[in-house]
Amino acid sequence: MHKKDCIFCNIIKGEIDSYKVYEDKRVYAFFDTNPINEYHTLVIPKNHYQDIFDIPEEELVAVIKATKKIANIYKEKLEVNNLQIFSNSGAKAEQDVFHFHMHIVPREENDGQDINWSTKPELQEKFDQLIEKLNN
Ligand code: 5GP
Ligand code: ZN
Repeated sequence: MHKKDCIFCNIIKGEIDSYKVYEDKRVYAFFDTNPINEYHTLVIPKNHYQDIFDIPEEELVAVIKATKKIANIYKEKLEVNNLQIFSNSGAKAEQDVFHFHMHIVPREENDGQDINWSTKPELQEKFDQLIEKLNN
């Protein structure tokens, strides 16, 4: 279930080198090549799924279980007590590699990183309308 032209499938096949941090039957985890911080890790299913919409529930469960294991390993071995876990699905959501992956990014004070979302408080006025759409 590997896609020929997929970077991450080729990493799993060993055709592209990677720094492995964890592996089990269904999941592979390795350092991001353009790290935001030390131990910036990508956790991926061994089978190719494009994104959150594509990945079957049980495969996602395997990925999130592995993510939890890695978080615990980093805590135990590296004393990492702060980390961000996120995943992008879709080009407009800043997904660049179209093989589903979770990012694990350890954070610490003054690490030079800052996710600067701009909030949109005016959207509060639309909440009723937004909920309404879900109930149709
Ligand atoms: P996205 O933007 O899709 O959420 O994240 C894709 C991530 O994959 C990026 O952070 C990027 O640095 C990483 N990446 C892209 N190509 C490679 C590669 O060949 N090897 C590794 N280890 N990471 C990669
Ligand atoms: Zn793939």
